[in-house]
Amino acid sequence: MAKKWNMVVDIARCDNCRNCFLATKDEHIGNEFPGYSAPQPESGHSWVDVKRHERGQWPVVAAHFMPVMCNHCDDAPCMKAASNGAIKKRADGIVIIDPKKSKGQKDIVDACPYGAIFWNEEEQVPQAWFFDAHLLDEGWKKTRIEQACPTDVFRSLKVEDAEMRRISEEEGLQTLKPELGLKPRVHYKNMHLITHCFVAGSVVEHVDGVEECAANAEVVLSRNGNEVARAKTDLFGDFRIDQLEKNSGPYQLAVSSESSGSAATAFDLGEDSLHLGTIALGEEA
Ligand code: SF4
Ligand code: SF4
Repeated sequence: MAKKWNMVVDIARCDNCRNCFLATKDEHIGNEFPGYSAPQPESGHSWVDVKRHERGQWPVVAAHFMPVMCNHCDDAPCMKAASNGAIKKRADGIVIIDPKKSKGQKDIVDACPYGAIFWNEEEQVPQAWFFDAHLLDEGWKKTRIEQACPTDVFRSLKVEDAEMRRISEEEGLQTLKPELGLKPRVHYKNMHLITHCFVAGSVVEHVDGVEECAANAEVVLSRNGNEVARAKTDLFGDFRIDQLEKNSGPYQLAVSSESSGSAATAFDLGEDSLHLGTIALGEEA
């Protein structure tokens, strides 16, 4: 079976430095690659779009960043919308919008459900991130965005589809909009940072009449009487439990420590992550 390109994107490692976005600009603004792309215009295009997502509420708010680009779908609706064979799927999995054949075909932009195609008004062509195929064809082992990223968010893999399925299962990878069934070749790691909620809180105890942070207390989260997750508080008495389904409440939370007793509280989890405030050991909330 043929080996094909895939991109793994680890959301947990992205710190929004935007080097990937800039590397794509540097590669393509003013540069034409015949057979691959016309030059990218100086403004208005985000072939690699680093999207920001926030979870939580004061005092615990988490921001995560997700680079979004052409997914090189195996069942690509952009190809179906194109006439004249303007978009082709290569044997190595990469989708290329032909810069000559696609001239004037503005409708292609709306065919992509990921918003990954941009219209180049000057050149009158639709354009998207084409997996740096011009560089890979010259023998590069990595895409330019992968090379430019300082925190190793990207991992381009040329493997057989069966091997990619194995990697995906092993690492818990997910794709964007899987319900569309388009078989994207961009796979996200730690997607729960975007799709799921966390619950956090601070635990205190009273020592000789003084309120102290309760470090190393046991936190047990349950739903319908069944344990869902457990965690320990850190040095500051803080805890966070992640990967909870949105709108999955009600939950019960119990906290205990050998020296200061226990406390319990309950909450409903809706669309957003929650901070439960301060929980005092020895007092039932
Ligand atoms: S270069 Fe890497 S860390 Fe920086 S924004 Fe892009 S993916 Fe995120
Ligand atoms: S992500 Fe959009 S542009 Fe890329 S192959 Fe899929 S449908 Fe086409």
